[in-house]
Amino acid sequence: MQIGVHGLVFTGTFDEAGLQTAIAGTQAAGFDLLELPLMDPFAIDGALVRRMLDDHGVAMTSSLGLDAAHDLSSEDPAVSRQGETLLERAIDVVAEAGGQHLCGVIYSAMQKYMAPATAAGRASSAAALGRLGDRAAAAGVTLSLEIVNRYETNIANTARGGLRFLEEVGHDNVHLHLDTYHMNIEESGMLEPVLDAGDRLRYVHIGESHRGYLGTGSVDFGSFFRGLGRLGYDGPIVFESFSSAVVSESLSNTLGIWRNLWDDSADLAAHANRFIRDQLRSVETIALH
Ligand code: MN
Repeated sequence: MQIGVHGLVFTGTFDEAGLQTAIAGTQAAGFDLLELPLMDPFAIDGALVRRMLDDHGVAMTSSLGLDAAHDLSSEDPAVSRQGETLLERAIDVVAEAGGQHLCGVIYSAMQKYMAPATAAGRASSAAALGRLGDRAAAAGVTLSLEIVNRYETNIANTARGGLRFLEEVGHDNVHLHLDTYHMNIEESGMLEPVLDAGDRLRYVHIGESHRGYLGTGSVDFGSFFRGLGRLGYDGPIVFESFSSAVVSESLSNTLGIWRNLWDDSADLAAHANRFIRDQLRSVETIALH
């Protein structure tokens, strides 16, 4: 099991200097891996990322949220095709950088929709994900669809909704990604969705209800980590937090990061690393009960 941190904890820009800041911060906080946001995968040199990661002994994964011009679930074939091209490049970058996971909102745009998803839109996304699943499998990369709240997609907002969409995709290299921040908004609890996801759960985001310091909001982390323990989950567990102290123009505005919930990335990250590892250790001892 690898414990990681999202790059936006440290920097909003991912040029060479930004990568250096993010990778050094990840290592200093005690994490195993960096989740590199790939909002523009054409701007990232995967081989450079790999060399920089190797210098620090840090692993990587990547995530992204598509925008409206690359909406895989669009009924306009040209728009969906733009999304597929971007995701093809993202898979290649992850493989070049030595990663094994690409996750996030990679099945629709990450935005508020003003109407439910259509059957044609879902079919368009599912068909593209089937092709992308093949490409990712050949590259040794697993795709995981992040289930997010109703203001950020209209395809699926719960784990069970995600499982229904996975049936439409029908590919053994396309799985689920759960995030405690989104679950806290949409799910009926924090334990059952993890158990429902079962072996289709391949990626986890740990975020507080306001996206700030873990343990200062309303997320029931105890139930969530007990679910992971019951499943025997051993995939990546990645801390995600956003503050207006660190800004990415492409991501911060989309996520509505208007407030300053922290200003010391190093302290926030080290705290989260301890918090996650402590939760996992606590759950391990349940076997003794
Ligand atoms: Mn997330």
